[in-house]
Amino acid sequence: MQSNMPRGTIEVDALREAPQTMSGSEMLLGNAYRPWPARITSMRDLTANEKLVEMRFIDERVREAFVHEPGQFLELSLFGVGEAPISITSSPTKQGFVELCIRRAGTVTSALHSMHAGDIVGIRGPFGRGFPVDKFRGNDVLIVAGGLGIAPVRSLINYIHDNRSDFGKVTIVYGSRTPSDIMFRDQFEMWRHRKDFELYLTVDHPDDTWDGEVGVVTEPMKRLDINPANTYGVVCGPPVMYKFVVQVMREKNIDYDHIYLDFERHMKCGMGKCGHCQIGHQYCCIDGPVFNYWEAKNIQGSM
Ligand SMILES: Cc1cc2nc3c(=O)[nH]c(=O)nc-3n(C[C@H](O)[C@H](O)[C@H](O)COP(=O)(O)OP(=O)(O)OC[C@H]3O[C@@H](n4cnc5c(N)ncnc54)[C@H](O)[C@@H]3O)c2cc1C
Repeated sequence: MQSNMPRGTIEVDALREAPQTMSGSEMLLGNAYRPWPARITSMRDLTANEKLVEMRFIDERVREAFVHEPGQFLELSLFGVGEAPISITSSPTKQGFVELCIRRAGTVTSALHSMHAGDIVGIRGPFGRGFPVDKFRGNDVLIVAGGLGIAPVRSLINYIHDNRSDFGKVTIVYGSRTPSDIMFRDQFEMWRHRKDFELYLTVDHPDDTWDGEVGVVTEPMKRLDINPANTYGVVCGPPVMYKFVVQVMREKNIDYDHIYLDFERHMKCGMGKCGHCQIGHQYCCIDGPVFNYWEAKNIQGSM
């Protein structure tokens, strides 16, 4: 039968119902290969190439059972199209939905960009090791992000925001290629006006609208007043950034043990089974995507 549904959507009724006796966590853990249907509840442009997409699991038990850590990712399925790993950009402090920031890159992400609120997707996960927020608690946190690297880091920033008294000084340095590439401008405005967040925005290539800082993220970092004894550093962005950001963190005497890096590698299963993201003895999907400096040092081409 010819369907007139857009590509990548599926009728909820066509999905097999889980037995009512199963709890949400049993369902999620029961078959980690199975995508759970979720509805797109909102979609908005962040830039010309990135969208912020909010999704809610259709099954209430799954919705309630789904908990994640800042820095974890999920596998997003578009039925009949494929699957892609995407960081969860919403904070675990906000339950009942997940937000993803999706750049149009290839097959799955381009198909997602042509979908709309109300369409159905599949979600597996959450997967991976996120940021060690328990170690950060009680300490200062320096977060350095470039480009799309803001996606997983936003989950961490919002988590800290919602538990603000648990953390010390929080400094955010975010770099974009151009002013129109800056994502989450509204949130940056909010963080900029809070006295308990120190925020630095910089762009590589300014235009007429930009009266802020120009240059790479390491420039504002060099001016920072850091207490190395109790500062944790977080880095997420394009591969070229890591080496230079870590160098400045070291110049500021932040201990290697206190530096965490979030890596992207091509991956498939998300569970350490298929080997697509294997680097040496590590699997990016289960040992990462967040690695301590010492673990990251062994990842080829990262530092
Ligand atoms: C942990 C993690 C978190 C991520 N978080 C986000 C996020 O929050 N937002 C976001 O937009 N993206 C994120 N990504 C990146 C996203 O998963 C990739 O861009 C993914 O390839 C998109 O799928 P696609 O089908 O749209 O693109 P693809 O069709 O897979 O193509 C994307 C690009 O990758 C190339 N490519 C595909 N497979 C390979 C391969 N095996 N080796 C080399 N090159 C290949 C293609 O040629 C193309 O240039 C994340 C990736 C990881 C691993």
